[in-house]
Amino acid sequence: MPKVVVVGGGMAGVACARELGRRDVEVVLVDRNDYLQFQPLLYQVASSQLPAEDVARPLRVVFEDRPSVTVEQMDVASVDVATKTVTGNDGKTMTGDYLVIAAGAQPNFFGVTGAREHSFPLYSVVDAERLRLHLREQLRVGTAAGSAAGPDPDTAAVTVVVVGGGPTGVEIAGALGELFAALKSEHRLPDSAAVHLVDHGRALLAPFSDKSHQYALDKLTHHGVKVTFGVAVTQVGPENVQLSDGTQLPTRTVIWGGGESAGPLAGTCGAPLGRGGRVDVGPDLAVAGFDGVFGIGDVANIPGPGDRALPQLGSVAQQSGKWAARNILAQEAGEPLKPFKYKDKGIMAMIGRDAAVAEVGAHRHQVEGPIAFAAWLGLHAILLSGVHNRIDAFLEWADDYFHADRAADLEAGGTPSRIAWSQDPADQPRITVTEPGPA
Ligand SMILES: Cc1cc2nc3c(=O)[nH]c(=O)nc-3n(C[C@H](O)[C@H](O)[C@H](O)COP(=O)(O)OP(=O)(O)OC[C@H]3O[C@@H](n4cnc5c(N)ncnc54)[C@H](O)[C@@H]3O)c2cc1C
Repeated sequence: MPKVVVVGGGMAGVACARELGRRDVEVVLVDRNDYLQFQPLLYQVASSQLPAEDVARPLRVVFEDRPSVTVEQMDVASVDVATKTVTGNDGKTMTGDYLVIAAGAQPNFFGVTGAREHSFPLYSVVDAERLRLHLREQLRVGTAAGSAAGPDPDTAAVTVVVVGGGPTGVEIAGALGELFAALKSEHRLPDSAAVHLVDHGRALLAPFSDKSHQYALDKLTHHGVKVTFGVAVTQVGPENVQLSDGTQLPTRTVIWGGGESAGPLAGTCGAPLGRGGRVDVGPDLAVAGFDGVFGIGDVANIPGPGDRALPQLGSVAQQSGKWAARNILAQEAGEPLKPFKYKDKGIMAMIGRDAAVAEVGAHRHQVEGPIAFAAWLGLHAILLSGVHNRIDAFLEWADDYFHADRAADLEAGGTPSRIAWSQDPADQPRITVTEPGPA
């Protein structure tokens, strides 16, 4: 039996390792964290609607039923596709007969001055928790200033600027817009508190249809979010953000949803890189010229229809992970590798409570409201099913989230409702964030 080293324990790496483990293949799964995180629910953590522990699961528990898979917690410094070797920051190395690169993506700041230092990306549970703690502190400061000095609140504390109108930007802006509106209606935030979303394009949710663009804009506006198109962020500072039209907004909270590129490991590995610094892979997910090396998920440019690569989506990550595992098994059996067939589940976004938009099927049929929510629910249940056996708990929580008629509450009115995954303390991931503020 071969030994497979998988770098990255996200949706792609976990799907690959679980599939190989099902056939008792020896796998070493390497990740800097000892948990798997579920990114589609990060905005819920950042807006205090879910505790971070509910959107992550210890990898040890995920692989409890796969004894041939070993999880190695290690910060990887470099990957060598020529020797199929992974080297940790501590100098430790691991070599496999096969190497699967599944190291994900990182925020792309496009060289904007100050963005890396002063803005908040939303790519990991640590990012989400850091943003939540920072927001809680800013709202406390802003509210205190407002009540002490009458109509003179600390504007930078109660202004949030979201950069980018893609799904990440729209979802967090929707949740925070709703939260701000609720807190204002209870006089717990000054009227001047605002959530801005800026995008250099002309529409929200660009890959969606015009109808969905309008739906998202209507819903965000309804939640009180101020949306500005056709402007780019040119500079981010600790107390303000500068826009390309000359506007300067006072804020200590700039949320970066402006795009992503491959994680830094891609650049170290010696494989050919394409758009976004991602590892170019063939239709069979193999890296050309390096026998037994595969690239999956967000870190890879996976050929899609036409000349375009498949998008960075959970379903692509999960399906490509499974497919790479099957191609490894095929190669071991002396069979040809098969080209990856992606089953497109559609694209969807939640824009605050009771507002969802989805485009499903080959013809991207557009649905809104409760039907879109049902599609969102179905997709997320599929994405979660690889790691949790209590999908009923997720469905119950999501139904309550979507339909409940209660204001979102940032730490003030008690604890957020939880997903009842498990009562077992061993099932809780260890997520440590002590310092609020940018990374
Ligand atoms: C905010 C947000 C919302 C999203 N919402 C949706 C959605 O609604 N629907 C959808 O389909 N998709 C969504 N996505 C996209 C989806 O989550 C990703 O496509 C998917 O998680 C990618 O999986 P992956 O395994 O390729 O990468 P990741 O999940 O990023 O996993 C990469 C892993 O590699 C590890 N790693 C990286 N570098 C190192 C290193 N040097 N050493 C050790 N370990 C390392 C990381 O710790 C991580 O665990 C969203 C993404 C984000 C950020």
